[in-house]
Amino acid sequence: MPTPYQTGLMWFRRDLRVQDNAALYHALKSCQQVYCAFVFDREILDALPRADRRVEFIRESLVELNAQLQALGLAHTGAPVGLLLRHDHATRTLPVLAARLAVDAVFINHDDEPDSLARDARVQSALQAQGVAFHSFKDHVVFERDEVLTLSGKPYTVFTPYKNAWLKKVDAYYLKAYPTEKYAAALAALPGDEPREVPTLAELGFEKTNLSALKIPTGSQGAAALFDDFLGRMARYQASRDFPALKGPSYLSVHLRFGTLSIRQLARCALAQQQAGSEGAATWLSELIWRDFYAQILAHFPHAAHSAFKPAYDAIAWAHGDKAQALFDAWCQGRTGYPLVDAAMAQLNQTGYMHNRLRMVTASFLVKDLGLDWRWGERYFAEKLNDFELASNNGGWQWAASTGCDAQPYFRIFNPVSQSEKFDPQGKFIRRYLPVLTGLPTPALHSPWLASPLELAAAGVTLGVNYPLPLVPHDEARALTLQRYAVVKKG
Ligand code: FAD
Repeated sequence: MPTPYQTGLMWFRRDLRVQDNAALYHALKSCQQVYCAFVFDREILDALPRADRRVEFIRESLVELNAQLQALGLAHTGAPVGLLLRHDHATRTLPVLAARLAVDAVFINHDDEPDSLARDARVQSALQAQGVAFHSFKDHVVFERDEVLTLSGKPYTVFTPYKNAWLKKVDAYYLKAYPTEKYAAALAALPGDEPREVPTLAELGFEKTNLSALKIPTGSQGAAALFDDFLGRMARYQASRDFPALKGPSYLSVHLRFGTLSIRQLARCALAQQQAGSEGAATWLSELIWRDFYAQILAHFPHAAHSAFKPAYDAIAWAHGDKAQALFDAWCQGRTGYPLVDAAMAQLNQTGYMHNRLRMVTASFLVKDLGLDWRWGERYFAEKLNDFELASNNGGWQWAASTGCDAQPYFRIFNPVSQSEKFDPQGKFIRRYLPVLTGLPTPALHSPWLASPLELAAAGVTLGVNYPLPLVPHDEARALTLQRYAVVKKG
């Protein structure tokens, strides 16, 4: 079959893999030769702290991607294939690179975050001015944008009917892998003056983090190893997923974020196991569908990135001023006096991951116990989470704050103590992240302020000295929250 283009450029962004990559497949199939590039985009990187696990994750994953491309080049063309790497503003460097390589077309996978869409529009118009085509493909989700709509052609804003429609529509066609390797002979040799190695963190202006000490696996191989490990646990997912001390979930979120594995592969596998009767697989598939749900919410309702999905909730007066700032600082640092909340924040601060149950508990605590604007917490999570994903993070925060599309009702307020008793019954998770409390008997661990002086003394805990007293009494905070949200009822 004749290929329409002589030369193409595959621009990798949040799809750092060769296998089953939609844009790479289309590029290889429709061009005689294809260069591959990644840009360490200064627009994003310059705003980050100098030690950021995500930058290290990306860098390590690129080392693997580069090696995979080199190996494919050797096997299929014998030429020195690899990644072209730039550390610059993507909007500036992409058109320059396209001109230097004399490409006819640039290929990308969709990224529907508002800033990314704006970036891609700028790149596209610069390329168009140079006569270079720009092709974009769905890759990051199973269904995107307008693919799953209500019968009246509107986007779904409630999860369950969305999920039902999603399940009705999905079939082998949508989950089929793109056989990129089959077309690897189209990979182009790197120009001779291009470096063969991925820049070091130091060259990028970043410091090493604890990513490798945490044994967070990177790249496609890391993703595959994690998924293999989870496959054995998928059937038990439903029973174990809510208990942060257990190895219940898949820990794949950072890989889905950066595309080191294919969502189609995961959904294919979960769907097959669901069809074979696994309840664990059915629940896990639902979580993957939540991810699609929030992605299409953000694509249809970009206002949600900055304000309440339900505008009436923008009328809520959140706490502000020095006291609010002090409460926020204590929340960020895990010094609220509620052990489950503090242990969860310690998990986030130390590892960049937080268990899903705890994301709900800490988010609810910030909004409904401390009376703070959900956007403060959302921003903090965005800075800290290895798997930070605008659509899911925003969706999760708006769910917890009751401002979102299919959120929990505003009068449902998590009790941080009963959540602790229910989901960390033996206090294993709390003890892991708050060693200062280790010696407390388990019942007292959930609410140390109720422990007897003897229990506290025996455990070496002095409240207000080596562990904080509760920042706010939950019952009072609850009453204040109901008042705060009353504007919504009136509105
Ligand atoms: P698993 O339980 O193994 O789930 C598998 C995958 O399904 C996840 O990797 C994720 O891609 C998807 N998923 C699971 N739960 C959700 C959900 N509720 N919404 C959307 N997708 C989901 N997820 C992110 O990927 N990035 C975020 O920035 C993010 N922020 C959140 C903020 C809040 C306040 C809340 C309540 C949830 C947030 N989530 C976010 C969703 C969820 O907590 C994480 O996806 C999950 O904890 C990641 O761990 P895992 O990969 O082990 O998940």
